[in-house]
Amino acid sequence: MLIVMKSDATESDIEKVIRVIETLGFRGHAMPGETRTAIGVTGNKGAIDPAHFENLPGVADAIRVTQPYKLISRDLRPEKSVIKVGSSSIGGGELAMIAGPCALESREQVFEVAKVVAESGARFFRGGAFKPRTSPYAFQGLGVDGLKILAEVRDEFDLNIVTEAMDEAGVDAVEKYGDCIQIGARNMQNFSLLKYVGQADKPVLLKRGMSATLDEFLLAAEYIMAEGNYNVVLCERGIRTFATNARNTLDLSIVPAVRRLSHLPVIIDPSHASGHNYMVGPLARAGVAVGADGLIVEVHPRPEEALCDGAQALTTEQYFELFNQALAIHALAAEVPSLAIAS
Ligand code: PEP
Ligand code: MN
Repeated sequence: MLIVMKSDATESDIEKVIRVIETLGFRGHAMPGETRTAIGVTGNKGAIDPAHFENLPGVADAIRVTQPYKLISRDLRPEKSVIKVGSSSIGGGELAMIAGPCALESREQVFEVAKVVAESGARFFRGGAFKPRTSPYAFQGLGVDGLKILAEVRDEFDLNIVTEAMDEAGVDAVEKYGDCIQIGARNMQNFSLLKYVGQADKPVLLKRGMSATLDEFLLAAEYIMAEGNYNVVLCERGIRTFATNARNTLDLSIVPAVRRLSHLPVIIDPSHASGHNYMVGPLARAGVAVGADGLIVEVHPRPEEALCDGAQALTTEQYFELFNQALAIHALAAEVPSLAIAS
């Protein structure tokens, strides 16, 4: 159920509706919008009688929701959400660039990349301290020591830190040292982890599982939001197909598909989508052209020495060039009305 409040509904009208929802044994999620607040109801198994709400002060309408998702939906919030991440945000007018190495390898390596990312004007730094590796013998990341380096990077360069957590202890650690908790493709349907980050105070970057449909992706975001964490950014990072020309197949069509249904921002990861250095630029540019709110890209000062994903890492020079191109495409789309990217 979705309860749409009148534009002149007061805070106490909203609180009253939420109290009624709670009395019925459910949870109310108030989503303020530009013109009105809507309140999503979760926790109910069957349909709720709209009569409970129709006559409450400030209520414009009580609507049954037939889709499987409620909180990610544009029905609840018609305007795009702008998600605050540290001192910046994702989903507003600016193109969000999240750049950094695949894995944090050493303090020197991290600082070398962070300096370049800060100089480029990007506001977000990525780097994995906990790495989900296919082989148990591959480099697993620096763990909490890596997070401490990231915290230093934030202080030194004023960059907002996006880093992956693979389990509950990792979420606690990332909450302590980082600004945004990344949930990787392999964990997109780790429902207990999704519920756990749903209770975290930091925003979540949710990557699409490599075989996830649009509905599965959106329902994973719904898991997080149903726990009360509404600060979710979606990330398309390529899916498994029969194609062998790239590590994964970048599904650009997910961007307009998400836009149509959801108010959440969506960004593109051309690095994991392609697996090849030479493809990262073209795919990133395409991602911006199709209307993504941002990019997350892997950068290494010496890709040939990288402990993880060196083949897809951009050199620092390539990264600068790409960021400038991405900004130019984004600006063009904003300036030329006929190119306006649907919002
Ligand atoms: C990553 O961003 O470091 C990563 C492991 O990505 P994914 O979960 O998309 O494979
Ligand atoms: Mn990687």
